Amino acid sequence: MTDKVNFGDQLVSPEEKTRRVGAVFSSVARRYDVMNDLMSGGMHRVWKDRFVARVKPRPGEHILDMAGGTGDVAFRMVRRGAQVTVADINADMLEVGKARAERRGLTGLDWHVENAEALSFADAGFDAYTIVFGIRNVTDIPAALRESYRVLKRGGRFFCMEFSSSDWPGFSTLYESYASTVIPRIGKVVAQDEESYRYLVESIRRFPRPETFKRMIADAGFVRPSAEPMLGGLVTIHSGWKI
Ligand code: SAM
Repeated sequence: MTDKVNFGDQLVSPEEKTRRVGAVFSSVARRYDVMNDLMSGGMHRVWKDRFVARVKPRPGEHILDMAGGTGDVAFRMVRRGAQVTVADINADMLEVGKARAERRGLTGLDWHVENAEALSFADAGFDAYTIVFGIRNVTDIPAALRESYRVLKRGGRFFCMEFSSSDWPGFSTLYESYASTVIPRIGKVVAQDEESYRYLVESIRRFPRPETFKRMIADAGFVRPSAEPMLGGLVTIHSGWKI
């Protein structure tokens, strides 16, 4: 069958992939934030700060943080005065996020269960669309990009941060062995869930290279698509504009 898609390194039907991605994030939701710190040595905080500095949220702007999970990126954007809609396919991740926002006394956020491939939002309602470490989990990535274009206003900005392969000599080999052995082991010990963390590593390996993803952003209609590598290319910030 040609309609099979990758769930990590396995081939499954598109419906099965969406279901299994859902199961992964339901399983990791409660331990998600502590696992992020452990797996990245706290680096994800620096990457997210850099990402939000690129987005430059302004007071009064309405931003859609897609695949927003437990709210890490959204929190940084509301602190700069933006109004943020956090949308995610997984209600368990959003519940953890809502509780965190409440504990921190953050306002200006609203939370929606949404599939990035088929959003319920009206056309042209948002000033910016952000998606961080989310799009590689989406089954039909071109459909999600088309939806991001549809819900943005004219002049709206698209920003995505995703893992990529490092081009630094030696670093990619080191990273590869860290990712495939250490991360699933941390997942096993800390979250009692080796399988989910093995999927996360495989999904990173399978995500298109930055140049390919840049073309996909352009295919969705965005102008000035760009791919900016950070930290030797371990993580890339992609952007595009709707005119
Ligand atoms: N953006 C957050 C962050 O950086 O901390 C969460 C990233 S987490 C690795 C990936 C998120 O993508 C999960 O919360 C998952 O539920 C969500 N996701 C996966 N597939 C999705 C889809 N089709 N539509 C919306 N969200 C999706």
